[in-house]
Amino acid sequence: MGEEDEDFVKERFTMKLKDQPCPVCGSESLVVYGRIDEIPHFGEVMEQFIYCESCGYRHSDVMCLEDKPPREYRYKVNAPEDKSVRVVRSPTGFIEIPELGIEVTPGPAAEGFVSNVEGLLNRIRDNVITAAGWAETEEERKRAEEILERIDKALEGEDEITVVIKDPFGHSAILPEGELEEKLEVRELKGEELKELKSLVPGGVELEEDRSGES
Ligand SMILES: [Zn+2]
Repeated sequence: MGEEDEDFVKERFTMKLKDQPCPVCGSESLVVYGRIDEIPHFGEVMEQFIYCESCGYRHSDVMCLEDKPPREYRYKVNAPEDKSVRVVRSPTGFIEIPELGIEVTPGPAAEGFVSNVEGLLNRIRDNVITAAGWAETEEERKRAEEILERIDKALEGEDEITVVIKDPFGHSAILPEGELEEKLEVRELKGEELKELKSLVPGGVELEEDRSGES
């Protein structure tokens, strides 16, 4: 679940998924721990943490309960205060850090979460560390070390990186408050760019049809 901010939790629930087999072991042992948050300046989101009691499979997800325009958020990380800036990443959100050549696109197993900049960068760190473990050349390992060092430095205020989140369905956001809002740029996604992003989301086309059917 989210790394912080218990204060905006509206509701919690736990349920067993009776008719849905675990995608890993096939047994009907999935349990959902969910909560509904009211996030300031964004709205209601439902966080779900799915856990298989038989094999230990886990998956986290976030769903927005309100309609949102598709947007790109760009936030400059260059100070320790940035660690606690809230981040909502739904499975339809694209994450980029241009300075580090990092791009995370929504895959079929993409996870959703409500966290903060530090939590988001920790997830990216873990992925970089895993990738470095598989690296075949010294150059790739060095590159991974450089990325980790720049992330750490940015969080200490000694370097600057930009965290970009784009969500063609509007379900993801970076939400700084107070003076930190000045470091945020928000842009609406539209036209060809929006179309292309939607086509890159697994199940995105169906999601689009569902939504147009609703209204
Ligand atoms: Zn299982």
